[in-house]
Amino acid sequence: MTATRRLPACVHVEIGANLQTSRDYLVHLAVDLANTYGKASREARAADKALRAVDELRHTLDDASAGELPGNAWSAAIYYGANAEVRQPDIARVLQVHQADSPNCLCIEGNN
Ligand SMILES: [Zn+2]
Repeated sequence: MTATRRLPACVHVEIGANLQTSRDYLVHLAVDLANTYGKASREARAADKALRAVDELRHTLDDASAGELPGNAWSAAIYYGANAEVRQPDIARVLQVHQADSPNCLCIEGNN
């Protein structure tokens, strides 16, 4: 028997927020390095590469979460706009559906 591998919604939400923070940081870093060393410098190109890697990871996990969390349990806000104020109602809904479906999850206060 093959186990279905999946992450709980609360973990996707946490990863999404961290990738958003990482991306925001790398955007600023790439600009700073390009201004300091030049756009074509090794330093600036390495920062651009790191940014593209974060974007690829985010896109891949966005796809994975969409496959793992059906209907109302998923939102594009998990991986895109995770830290934006305007997307917080979507994140809250995802976590509410998750906690109703998984009452034993460690993300619920009192379960750990
Ligand atoms: Zn959970």
